[in-house]
Amino acid sequence: MCGIVGYVGSRHAMPVLLEGLGRLEYRGYDSAGIALQRKGKFDLFKKAGRLDVLRGTLPKRNAATCGIGHTRWATHGEPSDLNAHPHVESSGAITIVHNGIVENAGALRDFLRERGHTFASETDTEVLAALIAEEFLLDTDLTASIRRAVSRVAGTYGIVVMHKDVPGLMVAARNGSPVVVGIGENEMFVASDIAAIAPFTRQIIYLEDGEIATLSAKHHEIQDFQATITNRPTSTIDVDTTLASKGDHEHFTLKEIIEQPDAIRRTLSGRLDERFKTAHFGGLNLDAKDLMAFKRIKILGCGSAYISGSIGASMIERLARIPTDAESAAEFRYRNPIIDPQTLYLAVSQSGETYDTLTAVQEIQRKGGTVLGIVNVVGSSIARQCGAGMYLHAGPEIAVVSTKTFACTLCAFALLALYIGRMRDVSPAEGAEVIRALNELPQQIQNLVERSDEFKQIAEKYAQYQRAYFIGRCEGFGLAREGALKLKEVSYIHAEAYPASELKHGPLALIDEQTPTFAIVPDDDLLAKNLSTLAEIKTRKGPVVAMGQSEVLATQVDDYIQVPGSHPLTDPILLLIPLQFIAYYTALARGCDVDQPRNLAKSVTVE
Ligand code: GLU
Repeated sequence: MCGIVGYVGSRHAMPVLLEGLGRLEYRGYDSAGIALQRKGKFDLFKKAGRLDVLRGTLPKRNAATCGIGHTRWATHGEPSDLNAHPHVESSGAITIVHNGIVENAGALRDFLRERGHTFASETDTEVLAALIAEEFLLDTDLTASIRRAVSRVAGTYGIVVMHKDVPGLMVAARNGSPVVVGIGENEMFVASDIAAIAPFTRQIIYLEDGEIATLSAKHHEIQDFQATITNRPTSTIDVDTTLASKGDHEHFTLKEIIEQPDAIRRTLSGRLDERFKTAHFGGLNLDAKDLMAFKRIKILGCGSAYISGSIGASMIERLARIPTDAESAAEFRYRNPIIDPQTLYLAVSQSGETYDTLTAVQEIQRKGGTVLGIVNVVGSSIARQCGAGMYLHAGPEIAVVSTKTFACTLCAFALLALYIGRMRDVSPAEGAEVIRALNELPQQIQNLVERSDEFKQIAEKYAQYQRAYFIGRCEGFGLAREGALKLKEVSYIHAEAYPASELKHGPLALIDEQTPTFAIVPDDDLLAKNLSTLAEIKTRKGPVVAMGQSEVLATQVDDYIQVPGSHPLTDPILLLIPLQFIAYYTALARGCDVDQPRNLAKSVTVE
């Protein structure tokens, strides 16, 4: 789930591993460690907490030229020095770093105990190390030992392994957790994310599920789990290797909120067709005839991506008049879904690595369905698995919680709604209106960004409450869900989203002076209904913060955030901005680590 880096070559491995791990820090983790292979043994350093804590325990220099490193996001066993990776199996022969979950760790541990292995940690990972060591007793080929070991493993893994008696060799394997091999001049790298190795080489090979890479300084070989060699040419990555920096901003979260006008410009760039008043896309691989054959659209994602999908579904239905809904990718894949050839599936993931979404895509494809990816990270697993779709081009998002990728995903849905709408009933005049609204969006967001002090004051006023409601209708309900999730994630306030219409059917029981409500109230045909809901809350002494476009609100609520209205397709993106600022400034007021909230990781590659 979290970060892996490995190096073999002629440089000192330690600084390479630390540089790589530093570039993976943004993913959120709870402990870190490195193992360096030296003179038939391992030098092992691991620590709970941030990378800096680990750095503080390291020697000034270490001569090893082969090593592996890890940042852990604990699944099995609390975050502690002992549970941090790398793990070394009890005889000291094998060391391993692992992302993912070994589901049958319990049964394997019992079996291995009988064979004399002991376990120092509570992790599922240590079991893998022992299993590989056990297999290594049969023949001394590390790759073959790993191949046999993983055939007994249920679950997901990206692993990198070293053996003390096989100097200068790392073996990596993948099933469900990303692994990428980097090829340098007489040196090899391996990582869970190209960001970790991009400063060192641009020549890479992504491992596919069911592949093993055997890496020494001068040689790499990739095999599948049947031992067939599957070597393929390297691809050249095109990424900015400079460390994403906060610039003058206090946090990545703030920087990424502020840079949304530019991010949105990039999402829109080259995609607006002024001549035919529509959108166009490079990579959908579907022509108009294919698209017209679809009778429904289903959007799949997890977390904020799922929420963006629910707003996107309303946008597409509203404009293109094609039945569209959104579902949690994790729920979808486990309910043996009926895959309809006349449904177009859209898989949304910022990182492109979300395991639940990736497996949903595989389930759709296995059953003959058509699925497009809406992804930010170029070349990520979901992008490659879908083979077609739309990149957001939001730029790297470093803060754990998504802000600019959420806004860019909504823009992508607006473009898709326009594109499909113009094939169906949307007139050129209406298409021109959407294009106007999309073109105006970056400047309107810029204007909102410049009002951040106003949002800060409101956030500080409500920061000490212990719970909050977020309400809205239609797209506004989706925004309420996103506002509540964002607040929960970064400030740890219990926040619950409800459709405004549902409040009186139960949750109103909890409204009192200590329970503020954040209401999303656009100036649409539901304004009167929303005003009634707000009156019901005020009658019960609940504080209300409303964001919307109607002046009437100013007199009805405690705090009113006026947001410009433009077009029903772009209004949700404008209403999103104050919600992001409120979450950010609330977290700050409560002294929370806003960029790396507790318990969370950036790309969730476990089930
Ligand atoms: N399941 C492993 C553990 O808890 C791996 C965690 C990770 O992916 O970081 O140690």
